Amino acid sequence: MTFAHGSLLILGSGTSTGVPMIGCHCPVCCSDDPRNQRSRCSALIRCGGEHILIDTATDLRFQALREGLHQIDAVLYTHTHADHVHGIDDLRSFNRRDQQSIPLYGSPECVATLQRSFSYIFAPQDNRSFRPRLRLETITGPFAIGSVPIIPLAIGHGDDQVLGYRIGNLAYLTDCNRIPAATRAALAGIKTLVIDALRFSPHPTHFSISEVIAFVQGLGIDRTILTHLSHDVDARQHGAVLPAGIELAYDGQVLPLIFTLS
Ligand SMILES: [Zn+2]
Ligand SMILES: [Zn+2]
Ligand SMILES: [Zn+2]
Repeated sequence: MTFAHGSLLILGSGTSTGVPMIGCHCPVCCSDDPRNQRSRCSALIRCGGEHILIDTATDLRFQALREGLHQIDAVLYTHTHADHVHGIDDLRSFNRRDQQSIPLYGSPECVATLQRSFSYIFAPQDNRSFRPRLRLETITGPFAIGSVPIIPLAIGHGDDQVLGYRIGNLAYLTDCNRIPAATRAALAGIKTLVIDALRFSPHPTHFSISEVIAFVQGLGIDRTILTHLSHDVDARQHGAVLPAGIELAYDGQVLPLIFTLS
């Protein structure tokens, strides 16, 4: 078996409003700790020469400038809530480098919603320069992007079923508050789990921090990284008291991953 190394870059670790929140003067929103500056939730997988974006968050342009991104080969969508999708038009800048259309992968519901919500991109028409060149690909099971094996994982987000992804020894599960048994089984052997943990108090569609701590117990995961964080969570105060192996995500964080070459 041949192994390849890659990484997952946390582009955004914040909830749908971002942190700081517009108009909020709480200690976290006013904090000068850069780990409390959380853009909308997104990540980038870099491995095997591929640059695979997870979601096109509202802050995509800002995230790409901050990280010096100039190449996106594919996008994996988790679901179509606005914070995960509304940076889609900024994919135009990545078309300039590469004349190919960028494939966007999502569940059948996700693909249908994108098609409906962004008809200026997907409706058949002459090629207009102002629209990004994108093509929708429906996920029906595990697949590969180049040499990178992608395993889609069904997770519950309130009443919705959305997708998380496993890439090698890392899984990325946002947004969620329910993990079906089949997905829990599919996490066997992972070393790193990036997972939604909005805040301390319960929420109808997102895991709380204590719910995630309970969920990962006994799974044998080395590092659990909490993402989609709200302004209730202070990087310094709360990051220091989490159980061993559980950490708060921050924008710009890089996590290693290893996968088997397909
Ligand atoms: Zn979200
Ligand atoms: Zn605040
Ligand atoms: Zn959501």
